[in-house]
Amino acid sequence: EVVLDVRHVGKRYRSARGEVVALSDVSFRTHRREFVCVIGPSGCGKSTLIRILAGLESHTSGEVLLDGKPVRGPGADRGMVFQGYTLFPWLTVKKNVMFGLKMNGSSAGEAEREALQWLDLVGLTPFADVYPHQLSGGMKQRVAIARSLANRPRILLMDEPFGALDAQTRAKMQAHLIDIWRNIDVTILFITHDLDEAIMLADRILVLKANPGEVQELIEVPVPRP
Ligand code: ADP
Ligand code: ADP
Repeated sequence: EVVLDVRHVGKRYRSARGEVVALSDVSFRTHRREFVCVIGPSGCGKSTLIRILAGLESHTSGEVLLDGKPVRGPGADRGMVFQGYTLFPWLTVKKNVMFGLKMNGSSAGEAEREALQWLDLVGLTPFADVYPHQLSGGMKQRVAIARSLANRPRILLMDEPFGALDAQTRAKMQAHLIDIWRNIDVTILFITHDLDEAIMLADRILVLKANPGEVQELIEVPVPRP
């Protein structure tokens, strides 16, 4: 079952110095419950790609389909976790997770019940009523994951989510993310510049190869899971 279908997507930025081609003709698909990593050198367009998929930016050619329907703007069908913690500092951990649920029409009671279930899944039940600044970096990203999964997105888009963490925390978070992913029905698209991280996490690695001035190559590498 195809979840995301990226067809010949291209992106050009216009700047004072002329045009920048950030993506040229990128195509791939992801399937239900698949964990896909995208790697590639700095500047090859990884962040541009994920911002387009998130609906935060428009593409200038090609099309992006989610469950067969064109993606336009952000939506609850796509969860996002980026490197910088995007938690609301003035809300408790629980209220951070409840925020999106209430936006999507849950009552306060429903949102609270669901938020507590998601916090349990990421192992943060004892921290439901504290504020983000009281948490370690890894714990903040666990809240961000709980919050983005709470709306039951079809796909979770992650842009170097563990890039700011120390090596030990990062390894713990990788194992933790795999545990979460195994327990729920979600496809993950995960961007990293760390090949070890991609091999640890992915079912399939997409290598985005920049060929300046030429069409970009996308090389697919399957990674058998033990
Ligand atoms: P990566 O995430 O792989 O490092 P990016 O998607 O950030 O790559 O960038 C791809 C290319 O697009 C780079 O050449 C970058 O300089 C350019 N770029 C990214 N964002 C903008 C922007 N807002 N305006 C102009 N050029 C941009
Ligand atoms: P990080 O995710 O940044 O590695 P840790 O998970 O190591 O952070 O947690 C930082 C601190 O919080 C540690 O002292 C740890 O024992 C404590 N801690 C983390 N999760 C829980 C939890 N679910 N219950 C109680 N204490 C926890």
